[in-house]
Amino acid sequence: MAERLLEVTDLVTTYSGRGLFQRGPDVRAVDGISLTVDAGEVLAIVGESGCGKTSTVQTVLRMVDSASGSIVFEGEEIAHVPERALRTMRRGMQMIYQDPYESLDPRFTVHDTMVEPLLVHERRMPCGERERRIADALETVGLSPAEAFLDRYPHELSGGQRQRVAIAAALVMGPRLLIADEPVSMLDVSVRAGILDLLASLCGQGLGIVMITHDLSTAARFADRIAVMYLGRIVEEGAAHDVIHDPQHPYTRALLSVVPQRDPLARTQPVVLTGEAPNAAELPSGCRFHPRCPIAIEDCRRIDPALDPVRSDGHLAACILAGQEPAPSSDRSVRVP
Ligand code: SF4
Repeated sequence: MAERLLEVTDLVTTYSGRGLFQRGPDVRAVDGISLTVDAGEVLAIVGESGCGKTSTVQTVLRMVDSASGSIVFEGEEIAHVPERALRTMRRGMQMIYQDPYESLDPRFTVHDTMVEPLLVHERRMPCGERERRIADALETVGLSPAEAFLDRYPHELSGGQRQRVAIAAALVMGPRLLIADEPVSMLDVSVRAGILDLLASLCGQGLGIVMITHDLSTAARFADRIAVMYLGRIVEEGAAHDVIHDPQHPYTRALLSVVPQRDPLARTQPVVLTGEAPNAAELPSGCRFHPRCPIAIEDCRRIDPALDPVRSDGHLAACILAGQEPAPSSDRSVRVP
């Protein structure tokens, strides 16, 4: 049985509506989320902008404080430990950001970028050991020979190389869990597959990965499990194959319907959701998806569905009609980046 790295239970993150000159309602950006990640597993969190994906991982990393809920990392509860105690935890959990053009300091060489976390977290590490770790991390991400890259500045690197440096800078701390926030969305299509393959190989070496993406085709290609988020909640979760080929929530079906097909002649009927996502500070009654749901019934206005099991093992959906509505297509071949 795989080792459990992360277990999040009933996590709630609230942003205050209090401003300098006005007082608005508080926003529950993350509203009772539970998830797990095992060693060697990729969990993709999918959803549109503003659904709470980034708030979820920022809360897990303790960059934002949770209002309630539990975050257990490698068997230790970290939801409320003081800041000082978080230093050790942060070595084990590292973040890769979306934009490698922003995440690397333009004044730092590759070596400067990579040595900084070691100087902060591993002050007593001998210099030779530090340099060996940096070279190993660069070789691991495919920047070889490492010496050829150490003195380069970000502007001397391509977009793919910059993202590889960002991943190497995360790896140099020896993490067990990587959190990748849209790791390929800013990259040219030609280099995306290389970065995804690199993350997959790291996963094969036992790292757990949480990947945030708005792109279901990336999740389908790369993830073991997919969690689909809508307005602060997970509305569908399961093995990637089950979620892609047998989607149970209308929102997942809508996302899938606009993913390009492998066959250029294949015709699919896109499900166009009407209206904007509701304001998170003024959630609709009942199912929070009902104002945009193409199959909503009267009960949806008053029943707030829980994330319950449907059909296959471990496949969950928060919809009162889940398991009753046939999926529009059982043979989806999703184009991968
Ligand atoms: Fe749509 Fe109703 Fe299911 Fe919500 S509960 S997703 S509104 S059918």
